[in-house]
Amino acid sequence: MTTVKEIVHHIEAFAPPSLAEDWDPIGLAFGSYDQEVNKMMIALDLDAKTLKEAQENDVDFIFTHHPPIFGSLNTLNEHDTRRKEYIELIKSNISVYAAHTNIDAAENGMNDWLIHALSLEGPIEVLDVTTETSYKLLVLYTPLEDADSVRNALHKNGAGQVGNYDNVSYNSRGTGRFTPNEKAEPTIGQANEAEQVLEERIEVLVPESLIGRIIQTIYEVHPYEEPVFHLFDIGKIEKKYGLGRVGSLAEPTTIHDLIERVKQAYNVPFVRHANLDLEQKIKKIAVLGGSGEKYYKKALEKEADLYITGDISYHGAQDMIRDGLPFIDPGHFIENIFVEKMTKEIIKWSEAENWSLEITPSTKQEDVFKFR
Ligand SMILES: [Zn+2]
Repeated sequence: MTTVKEIVHHIEAFAPPSLAEDWDPIGLAFGSYDQEVNKMMIALDLDAKTLKEAQENDVDFIFTHHPPIFGSLNTLNEHDTRRKEYIELIKSNISVYAAHTNIDAAENGMNDWLIHALSLEGPIEVLDVTTETSYKLLVLYTPLEDADSVRNALHKNGAGQVGNYDNVSYNSRGTGRFTPNEKAEPTIGQANEAEQVLEERIEVLVPESLIGRIIQTIYEVHPYEEPVFHLFDIGKIEKKYGLGRVGSLAEPTTIHDLIERVKQAYNVPFVRHANLDLEQKIKKIAVLGGSGEKYYKKALEKEADLYITGDISYHGAQDMIRDGLPFIDPGHFIENIFVEKMTKEIIKWSEAENWSLEITPSTKQEDVFKFR
């Protein structure tokens, strides 16, 4: 068994809330961080089908991509179908947490999943850069016997992630010396007696957005009354976060062939596309999951030959065609990749943490649009 808080802790290390857009109501929408979780479900949306699925499976916690409450909520009565779902949810004692634009922007999150599904090649760029995170180098000293648990806690909270490598640290051993005064309550040693302890020096990179959380973690897990650590500015390593990605195909491909590839990669029966030359060859592609029409000028700036995004409107399509940007609209539901990818990720966390937690991907939700 685990708690909502424990699971959310991992989600937020994966997709820091600071990456979310300002307008986005991410976070815990229903329930309590203290709720115990035996069964959790992962779903793209909270809708009538996923709610029923959760109730039938005795799920305590639902993790969704789209926040279930988007607008303001002035009343909560049963005479509105959406609100009735909220009431059902509360009565069923189900907590719901959403990670939305922070998952979109996160490294190895939504837009990376989508671009990798198409087998686009590097260099992969961010389409709309919203956050540039600089890193700090954390240097921390801990008694040898506590080094593993302190290091693990730092990693668990998002420190030491470098590109495709997790749990990256440099460690060396040495002697720590200190003399506690009368007011001190030392874990090791006595007042007014010089002490020396075999210690490990742990060095890890910490993104600036996680500094507060990491410092809090140090005070929680370090055995000393006064943990000694330093944070060094290494401003040169900057990481760009944001929505959408731009990448290239290994070989130039016609729009016609690309459409088939998109249908396969995203498992959709149909796409909508611009009324342009289907034999035109495409190399560089911009991808943005969800509704990305308003970012199409960014795709032009990045010199993308084609833009893949959902929810393209009639007038938006006209604008793109006028500006010479072919597009493919595979629909918003391609974001359902969230369910498969996050399920895998959470199973990994659960195994590492020894949670006895049943993790079920939602299987009942389907695209709201049907095609004939
Ligand atoms: Zn979406």
